[in-house]
Amino acid sequence: MQNKNDSLYIFGPCSLESLEQITPVAALLKRHGLVYLRTQLFKPRTNPDSFQGLGPAGVSILEELRKIYSTSELKFVCEACSTAQLKIIKPWASIIQIGARNMQNFELLKAIGQEFSAHHDYVLLKRGFANTVDEWIEAARYLMQGGVPKEKIVLCERGTRSVTSPTGVQLDFIAALEAKKHGFKVIIDPSHGSKRSEFVIPLARASLHLGLDGLMVECHPKPAESVSDAKQAISLEVTEEFIKTSLK
Ligand code: PEP
Ligand code: MN
Repeated sequence: MQNKNDSLYIFGPCSLESLEQITPVAALLKRHGLVYLRTQLFKPRTNPDSFQGLGPAGVSILEELRKIYSTSELKFVCEACSTAQLKIIKPWASIIQIGARNMQNFELLKAIGQEFSAHHDYVLLKRGFANTVDEWIEAARYLMQGGVPKEKIVLCERGTRSVTSPTGVQLDFIAALEAKKHGFKVIIDPSHGSKRSEFVIPLARASLHLGLDGLMVECHPKPAESVSDAKQAISLEVTEEFIKTSLK
């Protein structure tokens, strides 16, 4: 298993919903010396009627968290789907996430290069669910040409569309291992990579055994009540047990 200090472990809900929702997740991370919390204000949703994220209104929740946790105790991971959203999350996010749907949004990739600064730890680039590893690497090169240092780019495998998998998605470990050969940090998202809570921990454990560089896992204090991706949300109890048994 990898040394915890070299690896990147990100936990948190699919979407930021409220202070009540996020506070117990932040406390769980703090208890275990983990720092990266998913705090997604903007959600790219397939269905236009689905919850689209709190948007700029969610910033007040980040402000509240900041009153409790310093920037070294807790760091925010936020997705931007447009340059306008990037400007809103930029002061708050330690990790700027580019989602699967935007992996080839080249203007956004270029803008991130311009906006990336010393207070950002990483750009997290998820693989599009129908993109090749070569396309993924080319997308990373857009970030680099824009000015993001290679060591600040983390690639995240989140599964590809599958006609044979019972969940419609297949986590592609070979793609992750291949991407690692290009010298990038590569982490796994077993939540979107399986779409079902019962598979999240087994896939997370498999990722650790493959020597990959970390994980991004969706968890929620009340999984069934999660406003987005409820079926893949794991409870905080399951999350804590995993951290204790597999990340220590
Ligand atoms: C996410 O991680 O919040 C997300 C939307 O995932 P993906 O872009 O992989 O679908
Ligand atoms: Mn999600």
